[in-house]
Amino acid sequence: MLIVKKFGGSSVADKERIYNVARRCIEDYQKGHEVVVVLSAMGKTTDGLLAKAAEINPNASKRELDMLLVTGEQVSVALMAMAMQALGVSAISLNAHQVMMHTNSAYGVAKLQRIDTQRIRNELDAGKIVVVTGFQGVNRKDDMTTLGRGGSDTTAVAIAAALHADKCEIFTDVDGVYTADPRIVPNARKLPEVTYSEMLEFATLGAKVLHNRSVELAKKYGVELIVRSSLNHEEGTVVREGTKMEKMLVSGVAADENTARISLIGMKDEPGIAFKLFNTLAMHNINIDIILQSVGRDGTKDISFTVARTDLKDSIALIEENLNNFTATRYEYEEDVAKLSIIGAGMTSNPGVAARMFEALSNIGVNIKMISTSEIRITVLIDRADVTRAMRAVHDAFEMVSA
Ligand code: ASP
Ligand code: MG
Repeated sequence: MLIVKKFGGSSVADKERIYNVARRCIEDYQKGHEVVVVLSAMGKTTDGLLAKAAEINPNASKRELDMLLVTGEQVSVALMAMAMQALGVSAISLNAHQVMMHTNSAYGVAKLQRIDTQRIRNELDAGKIVVVTGFQGVNRKDDMTTLGRGGSDTTAVAIAAALHADKCEIFTDVDGVYTADPRIVPNARKLPEVTYSEMLEFATLGAKVLHNRSVELAKKYGVELIVRSSLNHEEGTVVREGTKMEKMLVSGVAADENTARISLIGMKDEPGIAFKLFNTLAMHNINIDIILQSVGRDGTKDISFTVARTDLKDSIALIEENLNNFTATRYEYEEDVAKLSIIGAGMTSNPGVAARMFEALSNIGVNIKMISTSEIRITVLIDRADVTRAMRAVHDAFEMVSA
């Protein structure tokens, strides 16, 4: 079997953990498997490098930032190969340039385009464990690029796809994907498996287990992902296309507190108004989430929507500037809100899921301000102060059962 194993920064934070990872990889190697290891930079190295850059030049060019950041991963792969060699196993470390992991030119947010497999293949054929830098690539100019924070997951999946690996294990400091954040919902359970689509919803909703792009890539190439802990041998959560006959009705509850609601009141009820508003926001790179438009009455309508709380200030500035243009008489906004979502691939074919969620919220007196749905997700906007008890109540209402 060919196995790609990815370890995040906390899993290689110090000597002891590096040896722990080395031993884990050697276990598979000694069972006769081919092993490719993808690593992040040790601990908080990347944050540290960014802080150093800011000290020297707060407006450092993106090219030089990438040149700096790629050093973090080179440290961890070299030390890992040394640890494996010390344990008597033949291993080699490779950076993005040695492998040739081609990306586009966008420094800091580069997209992987193609990975040459020849070098890795040769080293595997020579009987080595191959340890590869995550997060980095090489662009057309032969410059180093990075894939964006948390990008090592994406490197691992891309390598697994390119090598047609049998599985791609993502090791982290949690045991897998849970039905809810166990720090908030004490009876949350670890999920044995989730579909790619569910995982994408979880990731988008701020359950930061996997880099979003890694899940998209895994889905595209059908790479089976396993999320598990580097600190124990628990099974973890398998991410793949829904194979079970009975999909989970609801597989998890997630909250996102980085949100704010904006309403524009008394806009003209005529074509083009919504376009003007959302086009203006889009041109300033402000992402809109839930949108609600009232029914027109006496020739006017109201539009409410949510933005990331981090975009609230810019959004309000644009709205003030354009209030006449948008034909609104006034606007309001609310910051102390949060999104609460339930996610489940089995929702599609089961009526009454939304009602059950709303009942659970009504039973504890939580008011719903806005609602939005996708095929496998229902999201409500509520007061931020209600998040903890709302999560628990909704989690209890579904007990995360199979459909
Ligand atoms: N070291 C990079 C970061 O901290 C990439 C990664 O961890 O995946 O964002
Ligand atoms: Mg990570």
